[in-house]
Amino acid sequence: MTHPVSGPEQTSAPPTPTVAVVGGGPAGLMAAEAACAAGMTVHLFDAKGSVGRKLLIAGKGGLNLTHSEPSERFRERYAPRQDDVARWLRVFDADALRAWAAELGVPTMVGSSGRVFPVDLKAAPLLRGWVRRLKSQGVHFHVHHRWTGWAVDGSLQFDHEHGPRHMTPAATVLAVGGASWPVLGSDGAWYPLLAALGVGLQPLQPANVGFHCTWSPFLLERFSGAAVKPVAMSVTVDGARTSRQGEFVLTDYGIEGSLVYALGRPLRGAVAAGAAVTCTIDLMPNESIDTLANRLAKPRGSRSFGEWLRRQTGIGGVRAALLHELGRPMPAGPTELAQRIKHLPLRLTAPRPIEEAISTAGGVRFDAMDDDSMLMQRPGVFCAGEMIDWEAPTGGYLLTACMASGLVAGRAAARHARQAAA
Ligand SMILES: Cc1cc2nc3c(=O)[nH]c(=O)nc-3n(C[C@H](O)[C@H](O)[C@H](O)COP(=O)(O)OP(=O)(O)OC[C@H]3O[C@@H](n4cnc5c(N)ncnc54)[C@H](O)[C@@H]3O)c2cc1C
Repeated sequence: MTHPVSGPEQTSAPPTPTVAVVGGGPAGLMAAEAACAAGMTVHLFDAKGSVGRKLLIAGKGGLNLTHSEPSERFRERYAPRQDDVARWLRVFDADALRAWAAELGVPTMVGSSGRVFPVDLKAAPLLRGWVRRLKSQGVHFHVHHRWTGWAVDGSLQFDHEHGPRHMTPAATVLAVGGASWPVLGSDGAWYPLLAALGVGLQPLQPANVGFHCTWSPFLLERFSGAAVKPVAMSVTVDGARTSRQGEFVLTDYGIEGSLVYALGRPLRGAVAAGAAVTCTIDLMPNESIDTLANRLAKPRGSRSFGEWLRRQTGIGGVRAALLHELGRPMPAGPTELAQRIKHLPLRLTAPRPIEEAISTAGGVRFDAMDDDSMLMQRPGVFCAGEMIDWEAPTGGYLLTACMASGLVAGRAAARHARQAAA
């Protein structure tokens, strides 16, 4: 077969319908798998020297593939885009992902929090096995190929060290990721290319990222890096209050961790609307003010405040330090003190930069695509993964939606390619 990726000169059309997949992250790999299974000749391109670099990094702290919670709760994690993402999840949900991994020879397990991991926690064996299987199925991999847009004749253009490359597939899946951790390949450079076509886009923003606030030198010296738990955090935006319970980590610049990520969207919205946002920290999320006040009504006797507080409430260490940092002057009455413990004000000024974020919010709007994820402005071009305008907290929701969207886009691209060839 003539190699369909040519230099500046175009080659003749390939004999079987060809689907090009741009981007070799989990979304692109899944799109390639789906298009290949549908009988297409598949060419996958990536700007980097290898595929799946972000997937590999995701495996560093234990690859959280998906979550075992009930499907309705699972879908809610994608709010406010849960209805759109649900269309993908109907095709490939958490159970399907686990079955898919098992078939690849990667058994999974449910952790204590309900999160699902490969038994060995690692990403590398999964990625290696996946790429090996795709190659054996006939997917052609082209690394060091940076997609730069479309030529005037409509062909895909790639930058390559030996000069520009062109290709004219029957259908294309773009799965070029968001803009976080650009060093791993997804740098958001596609954004102006699609904007120039008039594709509806939401600005790219950091998601699952820490927020800045100011700590005293004393707190930082003693507790930088400490996990604060159990704790709840609330934020009110436009009269709507969002509250979550979990844990966060105190850092030199402010706070990060799963609780902050879970509140990321409203926090970001509030910070964008004003210069800063004051959220509320509850150091005793499992106790009512009344129960807490009853405990705090017990006399201190000769004990220090810290020792008495720890005995009555269990608040010590970093939580006690936070109470002093954010709650002074400390009220004397038990009810007032209970209220203070459950309503500590914390002023957050800005999210950390997108380069540090675990994922990206914004991207290609759902109303810029049809139900098959095909761009209205560019028939035959489909989108998948994090480049689309949805977001979710950590917990395996990101990878699940990326892979599900890749499957949907890959199948749809194959249908389109077949029709175009008929
Ligand atoms: C530190 C970290 C930990 C994470 N842990 C988890 C986790 O445990 N669970 C979870 O669900 N999610 C996790 N994620 C998020 C998850 O890795 C991403 O959501 C997912 O990889 C996105 O998949 P994608 O295929 O859409 O994009 P990407 O994985 O970003 O892949 C996009 C690909 O496109 C290529 N590309 C970009 N532009 C071009 C171009 N112009 N031409 C050619 N190729 C291009 C890139 O090189 C890249 O290979 C983590 C992320 C990070 C950073």
